[in-house]
Amino acid sequence: MTHTLHPHVATELIHHDYQPPQGFEGVQPPVHKASTVLFPNVAAMRARHWEDRSGYTYGLHGTPTSYLLEERIAALEGARHCTLAPSGLAAISVTALSLLAQGDEVLMPDNVYGPNKALAKGMLERYGVRCGLYDPLDVEDLRRRITGATRLVWLEAPGSVTMEFPDLIGQVRACRERGVITALDNTWGAGLAFAPFDLLRDGSLGVDVSVHALTKYPSGGGDVLMGAVTTREAALHERIQRGHMHLGMGVGANDLEAVLRALPSLPLRYHAQDAAARKLAHWLAGQGPVAQVLHPALAGAPGHEHWQALCKHGHGHDGAAAGLFSMVIDTRFASEQVDAFCDALRLFRLGYSWGGPLSLVMPYRLPDMRTRATPHLKPGTVVRLAIGLENVDDLRADLAQAIKHVFEA
Ligand SMILES: *Cc1c(COP(=O)(O)O)cnc(C)c1O
Repeated sequence: MTHTLHPHVATELIHHDYQPPQGFEGVQPPVHKASTVLFPNVAAMRARHWEDRSGYTYGLHGTPTSYLLEERIAALEGARHCTLAPSGLAAISVTALSLLAQGDEVLMPDNVYGPNKALAKGMLERYGVRCGLYDPLDVEDLRRRITGATRLVWLEAPGSVTMEFPDLIGQVRACRERGVITALDNTWGAGLAFAPFDLLRDGSLGVDVSVHALTKYPSGGGDVLMGAVTTREAALHERIQRGHMHLGMGVGANDLEAVLRALPSLPLRYHAQDAAARKLAHWLAGQGPVAQVLHPALAGAPGHEHWQALCKHGHGHDGAAAGLFSMVIDTRFASEQVDAFCDALRLFRLGYSWGGPLSLVMPYRLPDMRTRATPHLKPGTVVRLAIGLENVDDLRADLAQAIKHVFEA
C-alpha cells in the first residue's frame, strides 16, 4: 500500500499515485480509452501536433490502440497510411469530402454501393459537386466521361448486389492517363482477393485510395461499425487526415478492440466463407427457379474474365472471392413469391451487411437501383445471399426446403 497523499477520498480516487509494474504482456494488445490526453507540461503540449503520429493530443486524433489498428489495416491493404472512421460509409464520406471541392466532378459506377450514390446525389450536389455515373462493364464509357473537372473516380470490384466484376486494371489506367484520383471500395476484396495498390503484382499499377468497410470481414461479428481509408501517398493521406480531423470522425476504443481481436482470423474466415459460397452458388445454378447466379468466380458471370485476371492468384488454384453472391429468380415467379422464399428460409436471416457468422438474405428491387439498362442480367428478381460460418450442407438444405415449399408448391 502506498501512503495517502490526499486527505479526501474523492481526490484520492482520482490522483492515487500507485502505478502497476511495467512489463505486462498479453496476447491481445492493450486498449487505451481517451477523450482527454494528458501532457506532462505546457512546453510538451505546445510541441505536439494532432497530425504528428509520434505523439498524442486528443482522443479524436488517435490513441495507441487506433494507431495499432491503422497500421494493421494498412498492412492488410498493402498501403502505407490508414485513417479509421466510425463506419464504412463514414470512410467513403471522409474520402469524398477531403478530396472534392465546389465545381469538381466525381464519377462512380452505376452499380456502386447505394449509400455512396446517395451521398453524392443527396449532399455533394448541394455543395456544388457534380456526380456522374459510368457503365461498370465499359472502360470506354468511363474514359469518355472524364472531363477537366473530374477529380475523383470511385471504383468497386465487384459492384454491389449485381456483382459485375469490372476491368479494374483498365479503369485505373484510364484514370491515370487523365491524372484523376481513383478510390476503390475494397470491402469485397478485403485486402485478400487482390492487392489494390499492386494490381499487376509488379509494382507498376494500383489505385490511389482504398476504402474498406471493416464492419464486414475484419470485424467478422455483425456487431461493429467501422471503416478505413488507406493510401500509399503521403500527400493524399494528409488531405484525408485533415478532412477526418475537420469532420471529427473518431472511432470508439471498444470497437477498435473488437476489430483487433477478430483480425487474426480474417484470412481463415474469408476463405472458408468463399469456399462455402461457391459450393452453394454452383448448386443454385442448377435449380429451376434460378435464372442466373451472379458470382464473379463462376464461369459466365458478368466480368468473370476480369475476376480471373485479378483474383486467380489470391488463394491457391481456385483464386479468391468473398462469401457473397446474388441470384436472379425467374420471371415465372412474382416478386411476392420471392419475398415468401426469403421469409421461408430458417438459417438465412433477413438483414443487411455481410461478413459475420450468420448467413443473410435480402431481396432487391433492381429497377430502383440502376440508371441504365442491364442487358447482361436475366430478367427477374434479384436476391443476395451472404454466407456465414454455418455448415454448408445445412445451408444447402435450408435453401432446398425454401425452394420446394415456395417455388415448387
Ligand atoms: C457495408 C458496405 C459499406 C459501408 O459500410 P458501413 O460500415 O455499413 O457503413 C461500404 N461499401 C460496401 C461495398 C459495403 O458492403
